[in-house]
Amino acid sequence: MRKPFFECEFSEILLCKNELHETLNNLSHWMKDEHVDKSLVTRLDLAFIRKDPYGVVLIIGPWNCPIHLLLVPLIGAIAAGNCVIIKPSEITKNSERLMAEGLPSYLDKDCSAVVAAGVEETTRLLENKFDYIFFTGSSAVGRIVMTAAAKQLTPVTLELGGKNPCYVSDSCDVQNVARRVAWGRFFNAGQICIAPNYVLCSAEMQEKLLPALHKAITEFYGPNPQESPDFGRIVGDRQFQRLQTLLRSGRVAIGGQTDEKDRYIAPTVLADVLPSDPAMQEEIFGPILPIVVVANMDEAIDFINSRERPLVVYAFSSDDKVVNQVLERTSSGGFCGNDTLMHVTLTSLPFGGIGNSGLGMHHGKFTFDTFTHHRGCLHRGMGREALHALRYPPYSQQKLGI
Ligand code: NAD
Repeated sequence: MRKPFFECEFSEILLCKNELHETLNNLSHWMKDEHVDKSLVTRLDLAFIRKDPYGVVLIIGPWNCPIHLLLVPLIGAIAAGNCVIIKPSEITKNSERLMAEGLPSYLDKDCSAVVAAGVEETTRLLENKFDYIFFTGSSAVGRIVMTAAAKQLTPVTLELGGKNPCYVSDSCDVQNVARRVAWGRFFNAGQICIAPNYVLCSAEMQEKLLPALHKAITEFYGPNPQESPDFGRIVGDRQFQRLQTLLRSGRVAIGGQTDEKDRYIAPTVLADVLPSDPAMQEEIFGPILPIVVVANMDEAIDFINSRERPLVVYAFSSDDKVVNQVLERTSSGGFCGNDTLMHVTLTSLPFGGIGNSGLGMHHGKFTFDTFTHHRGCLHRGMGREALHALRYPPYSQQKLGI
């Protein structure tokens, strides 16, 4: 993928380190029994939540951030006391090999295993009974995993994809918006689940945004992004060909160049894209940004609400009321106002989808809780039998206090 060094450090290494530090600093607190409120009849007893591990958990990862999306859940799974089977993506071969050969040297072999497997072997793997499955990948495969899990009544977390909208209101600093949107869209050559998938804005804003995006792209990657060390490549030929078909949407306002041998697609902006165009039918997962023109914020919100619920909604405006309106009147896994991607850097925020974009959440304490069975416990004393007699037969209305 030729992921630029900085993007690798940022998305693969730093986010894992954040998760590790957060977990190491707080684990002794998170894993403690949690004492809870009691009723009159249990006042003298112990009522608490015990943090039990589930048992054996399966973590299946995708190819786009092949280290982070395995290690972050792994940290929480181990912290919560589980044994772990890790299944990296077979698409990013080098990372798969690194995981399969490297991880076992650092982990207890009795409690963990890395399985290098393609679709066929993963299908068989899923026939086993696990105590928890944590899956990151496409919504289509998420359905397959959930169906397999249902046969064993295994609980799941599904971190899936979707089409993240980005509303840009008429009142904003256009150049700042352009930089923040371009960074989020073209990071990892657009192969990021939380990348803004399309911009919704007025026709006037589109006219201002196009030169600003062009300026931002040139600032970031120079006049020829193919020569930039800071712009990645498409993961494989199949993905490259899929993305090429999406370019036939609206009009190419910026970029549009492709080089199949190099699996290069230039940072591309498509203007005047229609909801019926190919780029609006599926998650893009590549360096292509369609702009769909809407009349106003209400129309943008209606547009967002008429589609599957996304992993994140982005809204840009110098008027906080506008950002809050978009937050209030839409539903999505997460939300980020006036920036892109940055919400993922906070381990204090839950990360996850809703509806088609996923089920469950993780990051920081949420990862620990995901892999923890919260066992409700009541430990009573042996005495005070006279009090207990109230609930034993023979029953009477008097015992109910009626
Ligand atoms: P994918 O669903 O094709 O593959 C994910 C994993 O599932 C891989 O390990 C793969 O080997 C396995 N797999 C594939 N087909 C399978 C089958 N039939 N049965 C069992 N296992 C199977 O996804 P991908 O192409 O690797 O990743 C891209 C997708 O992941 C995008 O949709 C993206 O939005 C999503 N994603 C989501 C998040 C998130 O946190 N929500 C993060 C990254 C990527």
